[in-house]
Amino acid sequence: MTVGSGIPGKHQGGLKVPKVLLFDLDDTLYRCHKIPAIVKERISAYMLQKLGYKAEEVAAKTTELYLSHGTTLAGLVASGHKIDFDDWHEFVHQGALDYDTLLHPDPSLRDILCSIDLPKYILTNANRVHTELCLKRLGISDCFQGMFYFENVMEMAPQHGIDVTHSVLCKPDPRTYTVVCELLGVAAHDVLFFDDSIRNVASAHSLGMMTVLVGVPPEKSGTRGEGYDLALPTLHQLPDALPALLDQPGLVHDDSLHHLHAGPGETLATAASGSQPSVVAVPAS
Ligand SMILES: [Mg+2]
Repeated sequence: MTVGSGIPGKHQGGLKVPKVLLFDLDDTLYRCHKIPAIVKERISAYMLQKLGYKAEEVAAKTTELYLSHGTTLAGLVASGHKIDFDDWHEFVHQGALDYDTLLHPDPSLRDILCSIDLPKYILTNANRVHTELCLKRLGISDCFQGMFYFENVMEMAPQHGIDVTHSVLCKPDPRTYTVVCELLGVAAHDVLFFDDSIRNVASAHSLGMMTVLVGVPPEKSGTRGEGYDLALPTLHQLPDALPALLDQPGLVHDDSLHHLHAGPGETLATAASGSQPSVVAVPAS
């Protein structure tokens, strides 16, 4: 699908104007091939050193769990492993990654995000510290009204009737998107979701979200496919692909959503209260 340019009004190239933009973090807001390689290596090391897996079985097990449960961590928990989540994230993410070397400020991405007059949120399976370190290094920490990450999604799950005693709630589990929509007080079809994982966008799309698959080869830019409405090599192509999203104050301006700002040191989530969402602070564990 080629998305139309500069189309005012309700639709643009078949995409309804969203009320909320939801962004994955890793490989969507930035792309650094060294980071997933390091994380994968650290996950293997964790399974070897702390969970007793044999070297020859780790690679296949990691892939199996990732495919069957969304993330390796979710698969390990579902397999009965008792894992200290903070220890896991420290080991595979912030304890292993030199953010200042691997990531760099992205002022053009910042300009794009700042030009979109819509509420923007992060939805990542990664933990809070990793998310904050990445956003800070990219120079886009203040471009988002809130973040949904491993700890607060897990913390909010029971409030939505989801038992995470022996499981992890994360993308692409459709309940993850349902919880986020309930907290934001929006319907799934009012959300435009960006992610580099075809499984993640397809799951969101099945609930009615508009989806953008990020990270495709240049020749696939602007196409649509099963589970996504638009494919882009990087978010830097967003202004060309969906120009009506940018620089049009008042195109969609819902004050009930714009007021959802997290204060310093707190994690923001919202609880739907009728048609007017209210702000609640969810402590990061
Ligand atoms: Mg990703």
